[in-house]
Amino acid sequence: MKIPFVDLKAQYNSIKTEIDTAISNVIGETAFIGGKYVENFEKNFAALYGIKHCISVANGTDSLFIIMKMLGIGTGDEVITVANSWISSSETISQTGAVPVFIDIDPDYYSISENLIEKAINSKTKAIMPVHLQGQVCEMDVIMAIAKKHNLYVIEDCAQSHFSEYKGKRAGTMGIAASFSFYPGKNLGAYGDAGCILTNDDDLAVKVKMYARHGALKKHQHQIEGVNSRLDGIQAAILDTKLPFILNWTEQRIKNAALYYQYLSDVKDIVLPKVRHDSKHTYHLFVIRSSKRNELAAFLKENDIETAVHYPVALPNMKAYEYLGFKNTDFPIASKYQDEILSIPMYPELTEEQIKYVASKIKEFYDN
Ligand SMILES: *Cc1c(COP(=O)(O)O)cnc(C)c1O
Repeated sequence: MKIPFVDLKAQYNSIKTEIDTAISNVIGETAFIGGKYVENFEKNFAALYGIKHCISVANGTDSLFIIMKMLGIGTGDEVITVANSWISSSETISQTGAVPVFIDIDPDYYSISENLIEKAINSKTKAIMPVHLQGQVCEMDVIMAIAKKHNLYVIEDCAQSHFSEYKGKRAGTMGIAASFSFYPGKNLGAYGDAGCILTNDDDLAVKVKMYARHGALKKHQHQIEGVNSRLDGIQAAILDTKLPFILNWTEQRIKNAALYYQYLSDVKDIVLPKVRHDSKHTYHLFVIRSSKRNELAAFLKENDIETAVHYPVALPNMKAYEYLGFKNTDFPIASKYQDEILSIPMYPELTEEQIKYVASKIKEFYDN
């Protein structure tokens, strides 16, 4: 049995007629940039979240950068984020002119360790960017309280946490603004690059929209210099077509995770993901830990099971951040876990038979 890490084709096949119709409508109306498909998606995504403004952008990296830029973050400032994430989280901080300040990860939940945040705050700190990694929301009560005490913005990176929840609140509804990616493999994925910003702040909403559209809300009326970061009509129509299905797909991921917990419960040599109390993990990734990670991944590959590592090098340990002069011991948990974490196949369309097969091969590896 061949089990890919993600199977985007399976989802496409399940809604092929709807998607093909949506794409051909956009082409028929030549609504390539802006127009009703983009507006509809923005309206529907905001409504689904109960948030006032959704501003679509070209990808989930731009959304982070544009939020920070329009909050006035720049040279001389610091923004706190997590040591294990995709580089977008930190490179966008640098793009504003600010310096990324990394915090080690929590040993149980793999996201920013909220207990280490406060001692990283100084007079230059302007914001905290929690990344709700793998589909699990960070400890937001604590993070929001620290931010309030020190008068800092909280910018939520929700690229991996569409419809995840924490104490009844969705990821992306707690900070000043949230950044979403709709990269094809994300829980809500377009068929190319796409992203958006969610915010309830009217003033910020106007600013980010203007900045993303060359600094103009009306054609030729450039109030400032901005950037060109737009969602195109085809991607918007695809995303809008997927919206009626997304909550079911999210539940299906949770069901699939439950099957992994069931079939892997007796494998003592691996650590299964832990879910925070009173929260909803949406399993963008199902990350296990093993001291024999590379051998296990190789064995699974021999058995036609694809896996991945998110991420093999923690951000502060990357060449790109060599200039900050960190040692691996500065981020002991992230540096240790980068060699232990393994993402096993996870998507809504995964069948119980496939999950059983993956679990049986993991067991077989440890039995030998
Ligand atoms: C995917 C991702 C992004 C960036 O999204 P793109 O749409 O690929 O630019 C940002 N942060 C995290 C944590 C991500 O996983």
